[in-house]
Amino acid sequence: MQTESSARKLDGKATAKAIHQEVAKGCAELQENHGVRPGLTVVLVGEDPASQIYVRNKEKSATEVGMKSEALRLPADTSEAEILDTVRRLNDDPSVHGILVQLPLPEGVDSQKVIETIAPEKDVDGFHPYNTGRLLTGLPGLVSCTPFGIIELLKRYEVPMSGKHAVVIGRSNIVGKPLAVLLLRENCTVTICHSRTQDLPGIASSADILLAAIGRPAMITREYIKPGAVVVDVGIHRVEDEATCRELFGDNERRLRAVQKRGATLVGDVHPQHMLERASAYTPVPGGVGPLTIALLLQNTLQAARESVGAAS
Ligand code: NAD
Repeated sequence: MQTESSARKLDGKATAKAIHQEVAKGCAELQENHGVRPGLTVVLVGEDPASQIYVRNKEKSATEVGMKSEALRLPADTSEAEILDTVRRLNDDPSVHGILVQLPLPEGVDSQKVIETIAPEKDVDGFHPYNTGRLLTGLPGLVSCTPFGIIELLKRYEVPMSGKHAVVIGRSNIVGKPLAVLLLRENCTVTICHSRTQDLPGIASSADILLAAIGRPAMITREYIKPGAVVVDVGIHRVEDEATCRELFGDNERRLRAVQKRGATLVGDVHPQHMLERASAYTPVPGGVGPLTIALLLQNTLQAARESVGAAS
């Protein structure tokens, strides 16, 4: 059976579309008032198939909102020194306002060193310690796109955050940690959980807002979710077999057809049927957090371009 649910969908796809439109307007204004066209350069090293898709999508979206968009595709055996030189060259190029180095980098390349070489004012991924430090201190700066997108979504749907207990599962530098800081900035009471947390279901099920960034398909089942909680699912995983698809989505025809015809459907870190059963509001997978990451990357690039001409909003 497919679960009937009254839970409110927090539509990331629609929100991302609205942000794309706002950014497109901002780009046109910057061009008109300052003669500046925001420029985003994505550096991709190697041929990781998932990274190639992400980079293509970023390139396409940037062009669509009116940015100058470029992807530098470097071979997998590019040395760390050459990557650092490429980044330095982009740092010095005034037509580039945003630099994003697609992770993961090939083995043997020190990602942290590469990130720290990006000029902080062009670090549109928000990973440079200068920007993460400013985030922690409550100062303006470039904020990591996925967590920033999640907060933007919660705000646009007017999900109450002040005083609420937010539980973030996952403590990565790119999602869990900055997300926890942003929730704190919204006056949530924040708990961060991770792989060593004891009694994870007990803590998770005390959350008013539960945010899962774990990287384990459908790990968050009903006992982790307080009835009425707002659930944000950051995970993205492929489901390729029909039996697992049925277990996760019941008799959902659309999902089954995706597996049969396209070879896969997507699931997050939260069990989709259990989420619908318990949550008062939730982000779907796909169409929840995913589309917001690119939207906020574009917004960050616009912000960087505005700041380069002293026109920050
Ligand atoms: P990560 O592997 O860097 O971090 C995972 C975190 O989960 C770690 O801090 C770890 O302590 C915690 N964890 C692992 N197993 C656990 C367990 N059994 N119990 C409790 N905690 C556990 O992953 P990440 O980069 O933060 O990404 C998390 C997920 O979000 C992945 O599925 C990734 O694909 C997805 N993601 C999606 C987007 C998007 O745009 N939607 C962006 C980034 C990441």
